[in-house]
This record gives sequence, structure tokens and C-alpha cells, in this order.
Amino acid sequence: MSDKSKRRGLLIILSSPSGAGKSTLARKLMAWDDGLSFSISATTRAPRPGEEHGREYYFLSEEDFKSQVADGRMLEHAHVFGNFYGSPAGPVEETITAGNDVLFDVDWQGEIQIRNSDLGKHALSIFILPPSITELHRRLISRGQDSEEVIAKRMQKSWDEISHWGAYDYVLINDDLEATEAQLKTIITSERMRREQQPMLQAHVNLLQQQFQEMS
Ligand code: ADP
Ligand code: 5GP
Repeated sequence: MSDKSKRRGLLIILSSPSGAGKSTLARKLMAWDDGLSFSISATTRAPRPGEEHGREYYFLSEEDFKSQVADGRMLEHAHVFGNFYGSPAGPVEETITAGNDVLFDVDWQGEIQIRNSDLGKHALSIFILPPSITELHRRLISRGQDSEEVIAKRMQKSWDEISHWGAYDYVLINDDLEATEAQLKTIITSERMRREQQPMLQAHVNLLQQQFQEMS
């Protein structure tokens, strides 16, 4: 019964205000379990130094992005910080049917759309809060990726993102990184055992029933 291919995968959604630590945590989860695959989003924003097309994101023109949305090729999409972002639908169903989980780094708009999609019953959403706003600001600066202007814009948007925390299945305060990582692993390990994630259970119960009848 432990055959992994018989399990249904989860759509694991991680959201947080920018700088709270979700990319760091996502990287740790990916290194933890090779049964997890990362949903590489498409975006119209420009690549940051070190980012590669097909690794962090698929960097698309606005025209290509809109045509993919029109063709129904995005599981969800949203306008964030002046750019379009979306999760390609293609690989998701295939991956979860094979018994592997897909990890999404999307904002609150993506969470709602995935939950309302046909695959919504397999969604697990987790919101990451910072321990304080001062620490959120410090982390955005320490990451060293954005100009002062972009950091100010991200800080302004952070309350908007935090205000949606109540729509998530789990909410974690990312104070100590190792503790948050351990909490995430516990949640994922448990949620994999949800009844609806184990379609093979019916066959097993049928077998138990047959054995029970044979005994009596
Ligand atoms: P996000 O993806 O949410 O925008 P990042 O994962 O890029 O955020 O994290 C922002 C910065 O904060 C990074 O420099 C990261 O190393 C750091 N960081 C993440 N979690 C913690 C934590 N628990 N304690 C201290 N620093 C952290
Ligand atoms: P960044 O530009 O910093 O990589 O991402 C900015 C924001 O866009 C983050 O909050 C991130 O979660 C969100 N985001 C990234 N990809 C997607 C996506 O495919 N869909 C949605 N809805 N949001 C995304």
C-alpha cells in the first residue's frame, strides 16, 4: 500500500508578502523531497540578474502571455507589481496523477483561482507571515535584489497580501527559519495522508471486506 504512484499529488500553494521568506522555504522543500516539483510561472517582468528563462520563470512578452491565457493554458494568472504572472496548467494534472506534488509560489489571487479550479480539492495552501514589519523591511534590504524604490513599492503592497491570510489552510510565522521549515514538512507529510489523496484506499478496504467475509 505504500506504492507512491498510487497516491494523488497535492497542489501546495505558498504565499507571503514579498520578503517574508517563501522562496527560501520553497528551495528547502525542493531539496528535501524529489517527489515535489516546482511550478515555474510565466511572467512579463524582466529577469533579475542571475535569473534564467525556464528556471526561475518563463519570461514572456505581454502579447505571448495574453495569448497563452486566451488559449486556456494558465491554471491561474494575476497582475502583480505592474506585471502579469501565471501558472502553466499543462504539467500540473500529469504530475499529481503520477503521485507527485506541485509547489506554487503565487500571490493570494493565485490561491483563490487554484482552489476554485477543477483540481481545487487537491490544494493545500500555506501563508507565511513575517515576525514583524521591521524584520520584513530588513529582509527585503538584506536580500540585495531590489532598488530602494522597488523595496518601497513591495512594502506598500505587503499589507494588501497579508490581509488575505484568512483564506489559507495554514498560517506560519517565519521567525526562526529552521523551525518554519520543520513545520512545513510536518504539514505536507500529514496532508499527503488525506483520504482524498489516497484513491487506492477503496480497493484496500474492498480487499479487507473480502477477507473478512472469507473468514466468517
Ligand atoms: P520572499 O520569497 O518571500 O520574497 P525570500 O525567501 O527571498 O523572500 O527571503 C527574503 C530574505 O530574508 C532573504 O535574504 C532570506 O535569506 C531571508 N530570510 C528568509 N527567512 C528568514 C528567517 N526566518 N530569518 C532571517 N532571514 C530570513
Ligand atoms: P517576484 O517578481 O518577486 O518574483 O514575484 C512577485 C509576486 O508575484 C510574488 O508575490 C509571487 O508570489 C507572485 N507570483 C509569482 N508567480 C506567480 C504566478 O504564477 N501567479 C500568481 N498569481 N502570482 C505569482
